[in-house]
Amino acid sequence: MRIFDPHIHMTSRTTDDYERMAAAGVQAIVEPAFWLGQPRTNVGSFTDYFDSLVGWEPFRAGQFGIRHHATVALNPKEANDPRCRPVLDVLPRYLEKDGVVAVGEIGYDSMTPEEDAAFAAQLALAVAHDLPALVHTPHRDKARGVDRTLAVVAESGIEPGRVVVDHLNEVTVKQVRDTGCWLGFSIYPDTKMSPPRMVELLKTYGTERMLVNSAADWGRSDPLLTRATGEAMLAAGFTDDDVDRVLWRNPVEFYGQSGRLDLRDEDAADSTFAGNSILRGGS
Ligand SMILES: [Zn+2]
Repeated sequence: MRIFDPHIHMTSRTTDDYERMAAAGVQAIVEPAFWLGQPRTNVGSFTDYFDSLVGWEPFRAGQFGIRHHATVALNPKEANDPRCRPVLDVLPRYLEKDGVVAVGEIGYDSMTPEEDAAFAAQLALAVAHDLPALVHTPHRDKARGVDRTLAVVAESGIEPGRVVVDHLNEVTVKQVRDTGCWLGFSIYPDTKMSPPRMVELLKTYGTERMLVNSAADWGRSDPLLTRATGEAMLAAGFTDDDVDRVLWRNPVEFYGQSGRLDLRDEDAADSTFAGNSILRGGS
């Protein structure tokens, strides 16, 4: 089983995770820029983070044979902090980088006017830089959040086939499916979507435009839930080809629209950090 996790925050994970992911069949990932938990207070904190997403983290992933790509954005939560909003001005230079395959995560957290402005501005950046967009939907008041999200996406003029609306569930799947956007599902260990619930959605709605991710981050989460979903699909009668479509070909098709996916089959990582001994333990 080959797996492309289209949404995972490896910055928050350990090399044990990379090892287990590689053993489970994860060969490629996309790491979206997100809220790190600790509030950032200036633009420099963001640029250092973005630099790690296009430099250090791909190197770390490469040690385990995993191809790493990133999306960059001002996340919805921090769009509310006036100290962070100037990040919007530095984004264009990151959106030109090879490892950046979309604008994201953008969208809503609490649905404030500040979030409205940052969301619309970043959809415009996606259009201007000819990139897809990864849109996060709020975990609270989800149905209303998805409605408002879809209205802003429609208003932006971005082609729906270049947008993934993520963190969907049984309630919101239909709203998004009818728009032509891609559908993202984050599988969690206990709350929200689980592998069996995901299998039911795939039975009902089919495999087209469906993306399954682990969204693993600094909270309780599991980077192997993509694999668990593939196993649950097989147990429910889906074929190997169905699993390959959902867990590999769909994310390749979606992010491939950036023209920047790098899926060369080789272990050689970027040499930028080759002299660095941190991964082997310097002491
Ligand atoms: Zn995320």
